[in-house]
Amino acid sequence: MGNGSGRDAGATALVGLDGFVVTAQTVHDGEHWLLVETIADGAWCRSCGVRAVGNGRRRVTVRDLPISGVPTVIVWAKRTWRCLEESCEVGSWSESSSEIGVRASLTERARREICRRVGEELDTVAGVAREFGVGWTCAHQAVVDYGDALIAADDRLEQTTQLGVDEHTFQHANARRRTQMATTFVDIDRARLLDVVPGRSGDVVRTWVASQPLWWADRIDVAAIDAFRGYATAIGDVLPDATLVIDHFHAIRLASECVNDVRRRVQQDQLGHRGRKHDPLYGIRRLLLRTWSNLNERGWERLRAGLAAGDPDGEVAAVWLARELLAEVYAARDVAHAQRRLIVFFQHAADADIPELTRLATTIDRWRDEVLAFHTTGGASNGPTEAVNLLIEKIRRLSHGYRNFTNYRRRLLLGCGITWTTVPTHRIRGRHPAFAA
Ligand SMILES: [Zn+2]
Repeated sequence: MGNGSGRDAGATALVGLDGFVVTAQTVHDGEHWLLVETIADGAWCRSCGVRAVGNGRRRVTVRDLPISGVPTVIVWAKRTWRCLEESCEVGSWSESSSEIGVRASLTERARREICRRVGEELDTVAGVAREFGVGWTCAHQAVVDYGDALIAADDRLEQTTQLGVDEHTFQHANARRRTQMATTFVDIDRARLLDVVPGRSGDVVRTWVASQPLWWADRIDVAAIDAFRGYATAIGDVLPDATLVIDHFHAIRLASECVNDVRRRVQQDQLGHRGRKHDPLYGIRRLLLRTWSNLNERGWERLRAGLAAGDPDGEVAAVWLARELLAEVYAARDVAHAQRRLIVFFQHAADADIPELTRLATTIDRWRDEVLAFHTTGGASNGPTEAVNLLIEKIRRLSHGYRNFTNYRRRLLLGCGITWTTVPTHRIRGRHPAFAA
């Protein structure tokens, strides 16, 4: 691409920046450089209304969207104007554009795209900043400005009827701080994150629900929670008409923790140390958390061999079976069926008489109504809660943990809270425009 001069209609159409024409273009250091100016050919003084006279130009350099993957720099020959009216105090000024902010280093559309890449595509701020040829702070500011506006304008709360309340670790403990927990509010019908707030307590739930409009709380008829007493009491207080459910995801997670606890204890008893690579139980730790119907022949073989070598009293096998029996409760046809299966689970736990399993059975017994409510509320769905939790974990891993909760919340809501609307691309076939010769 050589140097052009005058108005370049082709390049103008290609760049498509409203209100601007491209007057010259070149490739420099592997980047597109485009000289642009506005199509305005006159201006009036904003104070006295007199027609202004040209006062020269000033060049402003900003980065724009890459063209076919090539970084693009726009040089705007910005007109300056002067008011010649003697009694007027305005003096001189330069033209402005809604697409290129004052002292900006990026066009607004480039900033919107950076926000979308980070928010929707889960690209890192550092990676996108490199691609656009700007610093981290500049790209981050684009995510803040456009992201916060999108989050504020989004209607994710409007349709919620089934609320999931969950906890997760925001920051792990280190030398200077304790583990920081966060509470998530999820629309479990539509697998959307509604909000995330710091802390894990009943008060966190109370405060958040109280900050929503009354009509919102009135529409919630199911609340799915972790088996954590503080949440349940708070939900009962602020959403008294909602049916409380311990869903499949949370119950099985509790049972999985029980399997892990017993495996670690038996491992320690047998070997006198924590699990290592070639220890029999450590080798099957993931198989132990898989549903039996998902095990293939080889999986079964390894599971049997591991238990035979590392679990002489059958304790690990017993909690593994308990976890399966609890899953069967959730897979039951209806409430009556689930009740019968729950009795089988309790019977098995009583017979096994393992302290960790007794604790699990006690917890499930205390939450019996909420467990069975899974079947009376149409199987308050398990997939969405899990999907959102996986996405949260992914976003956290991608950004190597967060220090700032505001940034953390923004990224999570952009990644799994708001609805992104993408302008559909026209199909090319049969749509060829007429080319001028
Ligand atoms: Zn004036």
